[in-house]
Amino acid sequence: MLTNYQASQKTITGSFVATAQAALLIGVLVFAACLFGIFTRPVDFLATVWPANALMLGLLLRVPATATPYGWLAAACGFTVADLLTGSSLGKTLILTSANLVGVGGAYAVLRTYRPEAIRLQTPEAIPQLVLAIGFGACLAGFVGAVANPILFGGTALGGWTFWFVTEFANFVAILPVILTARWPSLPRRMSWARLARLALPAFALVLTSFASIQIGGPGAVAFPVPALLWAAIVYPRFITVLLTSIFSFWSLIALSANLFSHTIDVSAEGALISMRLGGSLIALAPMMLASAMAKQNDLIGQLSDLARRDSLSGLLNRRAFAEEAEALIRSCARQAKSLAVLMLDIDHFKSINDRFGHAAGDQVISIAAARISACLRGNDIIGRVGGEEFAILLPACSREQALEVAERMRNAFSQSAIALESRGSLTVTVSVGLAWSNNGIADLNALMEEADEALYRAKNLGRNRAEMHLRAHGSRST
Ligand code: GH3
Ligand code: MG
Ligand code: MG
Repeated sequence: MLTNYQASQKTITGSFVATAQAALLIGVLVFAACLFGIFTRPVDFLATVWPANALMLGLLLRVPATATPYGWLAAACGFTVADLLTGSSLGKTLILTSANLVGVGGAYAVLRTYRPEAIRLQTPEAIPQLVLAIGFGACLAGFVGAVANPILFGGTALGGWTFWFVTEFANFVAILPVILTARWPSLPRRMSWARLARLALPAFALVLTSFASIQIGGPGAVAFPVPALLWAAIVYPRFITVLLTSIFSFWSLIALSANLFSHTIDVSAEGALISMRLGGSLIALAPMMLASAMAKQNDLIGQLSDLARRDSLSGLLNRRAFAEEAEALIRSCARQAKSLAVLMLDIDHFKSINDRFGHAAGDQVISIAAARISACLRGNDIIGRVGGEEFAILLPACSREQALEVAERMRNAFSQSAIALESRGSLTVTVSVGLAWSNNGIADLNALMEEADEALYRAKNLGRNRAEMHLRAHGSRST
């Protein structure tokens, strides 16, 4: 056995290793992102696409273990080493690194005060909040730019501020939301071709409009893909929309720098480039806001539909929802010619529990009973509360013997262990179960439930605390 001292030493070593690993992670990723930015930047000028700052900020927020002084130090090393290795002088490297860290630090200081759902962009209001935070960070980076521009590029202080601000802001908008919302989308297992085609349409429209904006060009070109992005926000999960918007942002940043829209405007005029870059970023906020609003609304609809489908006392499906799910499962069993069983379970002498212990105790028994019955089931079985103290259960792919075994297990779960009441003492309740069975799944839910009810009636008449199987089996040739 470990002594207390050894155990605490082990914890300290463990947390040190975790901190070091997190610092290494952020340092290496920042370094790699810097190299990407440096190798794609125009000669001797600032990078158009600079993912390192947004990546660092996203990591600090999504992986809190990286937000330590060591994490910051490692990231600072990542920035510095990348610049030095690619030929920047020490002075230039220090100025650029401090601009990066100041920008990230400013945005992080604001973002860390937000609630988690605002950081994960789960509400529409989170987008203006995000703009505030990254605007603040970009603004601070701009001040370093105001100092750096005259020294490094021989420009003006105001020019340096504006250029740094816009570039920092545009890169944050393009990359940060992807990191903040990243999650593996849950895809439906089966999808019809028609649905797949409908889903592909917004993406197709996006490609088409992006192509058109290059073909037609001009000052309006950057806005061409916006309706397609808004369409995507309505149709796709939030993360997919944010990802498409990010691709759009990158594409517009690159297209602007590479002069792809420039049939009528001169992007070599710095003012026009800055204006279009800022315009492109602000446009990207609209689909993100709509995607967040849609996600919030879908969440609420999900919660409401859950409330409408579940019984509040037991948490189980109500009669209507049970019937819906059971019918779908029976159809699937019939397609695969699988057997199935329906069980009706009723608590014995429940009225007397209410009479002796009070209605509240009766409620408690119902909710504990629901948990006990559920504990006897497999993952794909369905259970619903279909009456006051009556539960219906559908067991797919289940032989007659297995169904009887499950019913016995449920009966024993009650008869062999008392229920402790919140108010006073405990009591032992018993249950009766009626079963109906189909050997190939070709059966009607109502008929099965009626037969299980008849069997339940027989179990009650034969003395309660027992399980009875209905004699006629559906789909069976022998009976
Ligand atoms: P049996 O063994 O024949 O099933 O007798 P029983 O007393 O359980 O059957 P009966 O159907 O006569 O009584 C069921 C009682 O359940 C009647 C009703 O007051 C009570 N009940 C129905 N819903 C609830 C509920 O949500 N909470 C409580 N506490 N009691 C309920
Ligand atoms: Mg009863
Ligand atoms: Mg009853």
